[in-house]
Amino acid sequence: MAQIDDLPPLRDVIRTHGLTPKKSLGQNFLHDLNLTARIARAAEPLENITVVEIGPGPGGLTRALLALGARRIVAVERDERAIAALQEIAARYPGRLDIVSGDALTVDLMAHLGPERARVVANLPYNIGTALLIQWLTVEPWPPWYDSLLLMFQREVAERIVARVGDKAYGRLAVLAGWRTDAKILFDVAPAAFVPPPSVTSSVVRLVPRPVPLPCDPVALQRITEAGFGQRRKMLRQSLKSLGVDTLALLEAAGIAPTARAEEIPVEGFVMLAREFIALRKSTAR
Ligand code: SAM
Repeated sequence: MAQIDDLPPLRDVIRTHGLTPKKSLGQNFLHDLNLTARIARAAEPLENITVVEIGPGPGGLTRALLALGARRIVAVERDERAIAALQEIAARYPGRLDIVSGDALTVDLMAHLGPERARVVANLPYNIGTALLIQWLTVEPWPPWYDSLLLMFQREVAERIVARVGDKAYGRLAVLAGWRTDAKILFDVAPAAFVPPPSVTSSVVRLVPRPVPLPCDPVALQRITEAGFGQRRKMLRQSLKSLGVDTLALLEAAGIAPTARAEEIPVEGFVMLAREFIALRKSTAR
């Protein structure tokens, strides 16, 4: 493949800016611009899109997204050492790369986004990937501020996101993702593509928001799934006790057998439980 831009190779960028990978920041850098271009292509079409990239690091994926025509990128990076490297990319693509130096878990993204469509594309730091995904899946209002999420996770996490009831990986993440999005694994990326290589394979996942998911309060759904899957081998009549409501009444109202286990309940069942949980709490508060 032809070179994607006239900036230096990533290896040189990493060396010049002293970006020795830090484990504490989940830093496994992609060095191959052909691979970052493959990931960016999975996010196309990019024209008229503002991409939110979390953890651009030395900017391999950032460069691919810009070369493929992303209108603007808002890139949130916690490692101050990477900011100078990113500024060189910003200078090459004037007005198209906004660098936000900070923690993606707490930064106010809305302050950086305009009215145009936004899309999240990221090779996430493994240590906060799940927390970020949960934030994006439980955001209000819905439909959300992004039109899709294209994210790289460890394969095992990707499987937990796309799992269906009956799958071994079915759990809390699958319920949240399945409730509000269509989630799909697109392709795998071998450990050797990263520096340093992680111990496991990674996967690129695309999540597309459902315009009208079943009505349900995300906080209640999180509480139910946490309780249910927190003790996944136990029957729900036992595992849901921590919710502090009449568990048998809750299960009956949701039409679910008290002897069922969380892993047997499809997304719709959890939505019913979350709705009835709120109704039950309201009625007992009166
Ligand atoms: N995008 C680059 C690539 O593909 O080579 C780097 C990906 S690396 C897996 C994760 C990146 O997220 C690192 O650059 C790291 O510094 C950054 N990071 C870690 N924690 C972060 C946080 N809380 N907020 C923003 N960025 C973070």
